[in-house]
Amino acid sequence: ERALLVADDLRKSFGATPALDGASMEVDAGEVVAVMGPSGSGKSTLLHCLAGIVPPDSGRVCYDGREVSRMGDAERSALRRSQFGFVFQFGQLVPELTCLENVALPLRLERTRRRVAERRAAEWLERLEVGDVAAKRPGEVSGGQGQRVAVARALVTAPKVIFADEPTGALDSRGGERVMRLLTAAARETRAAVVLVTHEARVAAYSDREVVVRDGRTRDLARAAS
Ligand code: ADP
Ligand code: ADP
Repeated sequence: ERALLVADDLRKSFGATPALDGASMEVDAGEVVAVMGPSGSGKSTLLHCLAGIVPPDSGRVCYDGREVSRMGDAERSALRRSQFGFVFQFGQLVPELTCLENVALPLRLERTRRRVAERRAAEWLERLEVGDVAAKRPGEVSGGQGQRVAVARALVTAPKVIFADEPTGALDSRGGERVMRLLTAAARETRAAVVLVTHEARVAAYSDREVVVRDGRTRDLARAAS
């Protein structure tokens, strides 16, 4: 049986610069996969292709047997909203909304009633150990708290895959480890897969498996002791 998410021989150039030059990887349901490699090697581009944000020039991306790389924009965006959650390095929370409203937002966009959406958002804030910042705006919380709010927002719609691009990149090591511990625990509980882009071995240590990207090409490493 095929994996939940499959990238097969992806190529993508920006002008004359090849960002991906034959990248392939698979992600099973519930699996935490770290995508590692030096800066500029193509990690973010690979994540964007897997998540249906950027179409590859050639090669295929399949999610649950459907070919994402052949979908139109509307179909890809519906897939992202219904199946995927996203955590980035910075700037992803809406500054005018409270942390609770930020986490409730993806549910509100699916027309969940406010009371239900806010109750679920409050539960996720508690699980990420940031229940106390519910009424604050993102500008009033620490970097680590803000990232945990962002993780809560990524999880509130019960996604099948969470895409996290350097989610701890702006945090100190203690804050980063707390985000990773809570993110991976929540993913395992809800059986969500995680695609984690990082250049830090300490962050990749939270994964089940590592894929290394160099010059736009992938190498798959099974974790030695798991
Ligand atoms: P990484 O995430 O490993 O740092 P990226 O996927 O961001 O690598 O980038 C791979 C290469 O593609 C780099 O040379 C980068 O400059 C280039 N690149 C990525 N995105 C764009 C873009 N939107 N426009 C132009 N060049 C890009
Ligand atoms: P982190 O999650 O970044 O490790 P903590 O959860 O240890 O931070 O938070 C320490 C305390 O300091 C919290 O009560 C938080 O409200 C406060 N704090 C830290 N940084 C900021 C900031 N930039 N703005 C407002 N409060 C902050």
